[in-house]
Amino acid sequence: MPAKASKKKAKKAAPKRKAASKAVKAVYAFGKKTDGNTTMKNLLGGKGANLAEMAAIGLPVPPGFTITTEVCTYFSNNKGNYPKGLEAEVKAAVKQVEKEQGKQFGSKTNPLLFSVRSGARESMPGMMDTILNLGLNDATVVALANKSGNERFAWDCYRRFIQMYGDVVMGVQPKGEHDHEPFEEVMDKLKKELKAETDNDLTADDLKELVKRYKALIKKWTKKSFPQDAYEQLWGAVGAVFNSWGNERAVIYRQKYNIPAEWGTAVNVQAMVFGNMGDTCATGVAFTRDPANGEKVFYGEYLINAQGEDVVAGVRTPKPIAQLADEMPHAHAELEKVCKKLEKHFRDMQDFEFTVEDNVLYMLQTRNGKRTGLAAVRIAVEMNNERLMTEKVAVTKIPAESIDSLLVPIFDPKAEAAAKPIGAGLPAGPGAASGHIVFSANMAEKEVKAGRKVILCRVETSPEDLKGMLASEGILTSRGGVSSHAALVARQLGKVCICGASEVVIDYAKKTLRSGKTVLKEGDFISINGTSGEIFAGAIDTTDSEVKRVLEGNLKPSKSYTYQLFATVMKWADKHRKLAVRTNADTPEMAANAVAFGAEGIGLCRTEHMFFEGDRIDYMRQMILASNEKDRRDALKKLLPFQRKDFAGLFKAMKGLPVTVRLLDPPLHEFLPHDDTTRRQLANKLGLSQEYITERVKALHEENPMLGHRGCRLGVSYPEITEMQARAIFEAAAQVGKLKKPIKVNPEIMIPLVGFKQELKDQVDIVHRVAKEVMEAKKVKISYTVGTMIEIPRAAVTADEIAEVAEFFSFGTNDLTQTTLGLSRDDMGSFFDDYRNKEIFNQNPFASLDQSGVGQLVKGAAEKGRSVKKNLKLGICGEHGGDPDSIGFFHSVGLNYVSCSPPRVPVARLAAAQAAIKG
Ligand code: PEP
Ligand code: MG
Repeated sequence: MPAKASKKKAKKAAPKRKAASKAVKAVYAFGKKTDGNTTMKNLLGGKGANLAEMAAIGLPVPPGFTITTEVCTYFSNNKGNYPKGLEAEVKAAVKQVEKEQGKQFGSKTNPLLFSVRSGARESMPGMMDTILNLGLNDATVVALANKSGNERFAWDCYRRFIQMYGDVVMGVQPKGEHDHEPFEEVMDKLKKELKAETDNDLTADDLKELVKRYKALIKKWTKKSFPQDAYEQLWGAVGAVFNSWGNERAVIYRQKYNIPAEWGTAVNVQAMVFGNMGDTCATGVAFTRDPANGEKVFYGEYLINAQGEDVVAGVRTPKPIAQLADEMPHAHAELEKVCKKLEKHFRDMQDFEFTVEDNVLYMLQTRNGKRTGLAAVRIAVEMNNERLMTEKVAVTKIPAESIDSLLVPIFDPKAEAAAKPIGAGLPAGPGAASGHIVFSANMAEKEVKAGRKVILCRVETSPEDLKGMLASEGILTSRGGVSSHAALVARQLGKVCICGASEVVIDYAKKTLRSGKTVLKEGDFISINGTSGEIFAGAIDTTDSEVKRVLEGNLKPSKSYTYQLFATVMKWADKHRKLAVRTNADTPEMAANAVAFGAEGIGLCRTEHMFFEGDRIDYMRQMILASNEKDRRDALKKLLPFQRKDFAGLFKAMKGLPVTVRLLDPPLHEFLPHDDTTRRQLANKLGLSQEYITERVKALHEENPMLGHRGCRLGVSYPEITEMQARAIFEAAAQVGKLKKPIKVNPEIMIPLVGFKQELKDQVDIVHRVAKEVMEAKKVKISYTVGTMIEIPRAAVTADEIAEVAEFFSFGTNDLTQTTLGLSRDDMGSFFDDYRNKEIFNQNPFASLDQSGVGQLVKGAAEKGRSVKKNLKLGICGEHGGDPDSIGFFHSVGLNYVSCSPPRVPVARLAAAQAAIKG
């Protein structure tokens, strides 16, 4: 009987489901009878769908069944009740497995045991719960011992089952972060009493004693007995898996990867096969290619005489898969064949789990393997070469963000060569990271909040460490292999990671990390190279990646395979994308950098940023503080030559590519001198009295400068500012047009923070007037356009009116988000976590566009604008221009380009191509 679904409750729930309950199939078999396939991931979860597919293509899959994700949703929405009819379906599915295995669930002579695992639509490694050996009780354990002829094995299975079940289903878990695992404590105590060094030293009788103590522990903690009825165990486990969808780890993971709560998880119930019955048995995890660097080698690890969890838990250090060729040549050869079959069938790199029971191979799971950014690129390119993936598929297989990891910094080669490694581990996440040592996830978060970079050093990580891992520069573990939690998660997060550094001894109590003779304390610097696996004491400077060095002409392309991979993918991306990719850059250096990364123009030059340097800020302040037009014009006169020179520099760097220059948009609080010292210095410099400055600052004070005298409002009040900037732009364009190698510039002048057509018209008229004056004076012809930012809701909803005056729109989604959500872009921090935790925001709306809110304004404004001017050029220059999800949206609403910060340009190119391919 389902744990919570008492007969009474089931009856109560029945009317709600009456019509649907008969028609909806909730349980899908796999094995000799297989109901599902790989296309049914939404319903069966990734694991369930692929188990069905593997069974269907003739791979050796132990039979079982999948309870659908729809049941999970029903369970969550109905206070832990199950839909009517589920119990009967499960019973029938169990019967089918019994038939295929020739064993019976709960039988006292020939018991069938199950594993129960979660399996969401997208794999969430280690986020939810698993229970093995289900069906064991005081009687079936004896039967298992008799059947297997291995009493120790049977009791070891039983004690593991009680431990997992007690933890996951009955809640016998450590209460605080520093508390010991209760079952481990009981086991350690017994080992001490028996003077046993390892778990393997415990005999069958010792394990019987351990089982007794485990059961007593459960009774003490829960006031309940460990259940002996096999079906009661099964429903308890199923309920726990469904509940685990809502546990904290799973919620954090879902937030990070934007997985909706409604998806739910499926539950996979599968006949147990045993890798721990003796030396003819093994269990392992393998990849069809190396997930760290993408190389085409059979890659993985295994343990002889062990159960699956032992490999991932990092308790025993597994052996590299190549060694299996010596230890179990037959199984190794079978696995190599399986690799080929899997890749050919699933057409992607696979990550699979297997067990060898008595020299017979069984496949327990397969999925598209998680991989580093570098591996994603290499696998896509090489699988395309091998005709396993088309070019379009290959493009969509590379998470857009992962291209970033080809551009990640590496250690300065000289500094690294001079440094002496203190140890090494498995390279699990590429790149170079340096930071202060911390030993706990909490400490990592705390230090990062205080502004320090940290490396999280753990014996091993667990899903509880996720937040700390997210905060850290890099992760180092002393235990665990390439499929350990640390490695899997770091790979996904794009974090630098070394795992299984076995020479490293981490002592949490003493807060030290020892490797050989070197002892480091918490807070000391450590540096890790996640590409080579080497660990160094102290800080090491980082330097540019190979790709960056090639792009900057410091390395020959032929010398870098990584660069060639990058270039191939970028070539594909450019072929398929419809969106142009520009950059937000305010200096010639930034612009040149972005062009090297493939930027096709500048989408936003924030002119106020050009005044941060040197003396300019003082003249800028003089201009802002001026109390009359004459003083303002005096200040502007000093600013003009700077602006002209900067624009000329930018135009030269862009070599004729389009440049959008936005006129001044300084929220005043960013520019006013706030403290006495700065005011005194400014007074001296400008020959003004400090009192005058203080008075003007007071007069200009705004309670809410983000909604104050900024953007075009400044130009409307003080037309001379717009005049000066327009003059600087046109004079610079005239100047570069007359160079020996003339550069033809068609400046795009952009007016910020417009809400009314009249406001825009006011400014556009000034620009046209100045343009005419400059062209006449310099005897040149410059073609230019004047457009506007759409960054406040009024502009979006009146975009048709505004389009009558504007020659282009660029969506300023930073301000548009701020003003649409009524949410300050400057102080989100204080309540953001609460909103994330309650899943009100799945993502930070300033990082990834709020598509159903702000997005609709963008879409509507685009349509309105184009209803007036059919070919109105539309771009976006808010931070969302570098976010892959938002880029997908901008593609879908038909924008012409996105503009993002220079390092995001390759990511944006790839994301734009993916949006175009996915349609
Ligand atoms: C914007 O608001 O999106 C924008 C690009 O302008 P800024 O960030 O300079 O306000
Ligand atoms: Mg703005």
